[in-house]
Amino acid sequence: MKIDILTLFPRMFDGFLTESIMSRAIENKIVEINCIDFREFSNSKHKKVDDSPYGGGAGMVLGIQSIYDALQSIPNYQEALKIMVTPQGKTFKQEYAYEYSKQDHIIILCGHYEGYDERIRELFDIEISIGDYVLTGGELAAMVLTDAITRVIPNVISNDDSHLNDSFSNHLLEHPHYTRPADFMGKKVPEVLLNGNHKLIEEWRMDQSVKRTKERRPDLYKKYLKTIK
Ligand code: SAM
Repeated sequence: MKIDILTLFPRMFDGFLTESIMSRAIENKIVEINCIDFREFSNSKHKKVDDSPYGGGAGMVLGIQSIYDALQSIPNYQEALKIMVTPQGKTFKQEYAYEYSKQDHIIILCGHYEGYDERIRELFDIEISIGDYVLTGGELAAMVLTDAITRVIPNVISNDDSHLNDSFSNHLLEHPHYTRPADFMGKKVPEVLLNGNHKLIEEWRMDQSVKRTKERRPDLYKKYLKTIK
């Protein structure tokens, strides 16, 4: 898969792309990620990409020209899934990570300043928000999407099935985990996990997962109940 990220701050991605699962997925050529500084495509003398809003008001607005030209410079951009990150979009969910992980090519536009010229929206297929809060720019949102999508591409995680039990994969939060020591200052690991009976362990994990979801996320729990009826 190829992911092209249109951003004014490509250096923000340096650490993100050179550590952990992202760096391995890139090294293993499972994903190719390009950060494209769309300021480079500005026609203006001083590489300006924003301007004051028509009608007045606070803040600066990202103009369409540099973004349009940056998009055109990407080979086969027409066929890519083009995502714009904005707090006004659909809230990102694990199910979208699975859906988008099947794409060959994704383009993500990171906004900045007060917002986008409304006509930029027409160049993109979908608007995604990562939650009901406002960030300074779209870079963190693009990293969230890129990470969540990449980790569910086959062969990215070494134990390939491990993401299937992740929270949200089946409308449930994941069960609790424990590791050594079995007793830390009197805080003990549940007995069932120590007896090697895999059937009992699976049942315990499922019960815990359901209990945890019911307590913490009644909205998800309702969806889960529908799947077992
Ligand atoms: N004035 C805009 C509004 O109220 O919708 C917010 C602009 S925000 C300061 C600048 C940019 O950060 C946005 O254009 C978007 O790209 C990104 N951004 C901010 N919050 C986001 C969120 N929750 N999800 C995705 N992107 C976000």
